[in-house]
Amino acid sequence: MAYRKVYLGPFLRVWMPERTAHIPVQSCTNEECKKYGEHNRHQFCGYCGKEVKRISINKPSHLILHDFLNEEFQDPDMFIDVQPDGKEYILVVPNRHKKQGGAFFEDSPDSEILVFSDGIEHFRAEFDREDWIKLVTTLLDRGIKYEQLTGVLQWFA
Ligand SMILES: [Zn+2]
Repeated sequence: MAYRKVYLGPFLRVWMPERTAHIPVQSCTNEECKKYGEHNRHQFCGYCGKEVKRISINKPSHLILHDFLNEEFQDPDMFIDVQPDGKEYILVVPNRHKKQGGAFFEDSPDSEILVFSDGIEHFRAEFDREDWIKLVTTLLDRGIKYEQLTGVLQWFA
């Protein structure tokens, strides 16, 4: 069962850098073998006959927000990410439990109305919160490309 989430407020669009992930796998240890890197639960490779052991294969992958937040702030849940299908970027939105601004509608049973007397300006100031500043400063320091946006997001989780 997928739950619809609707969020209104500040968010970041972030192009997370690629880095090499080291993936452990039980595999043939012969780097020349075409089965090298493939999972093998036998003692010896059925293709080349070499020993099967736990090895580490290198795989390029995008840095995951959860890991980034854990490494930089020791707080993997500081923000959450939404990953639109087939896009090169992620969207970083507040973790609603952290009170970082914005408005969530995910638990609304019916219709819900929010009125902000100051309009969209209401949300712009939320980028001045401590957590947002910490995150944006660190993205800048690490040379990670991002944009600050304000709007409405819908996703299914
Ligand atoms: Zn082999």
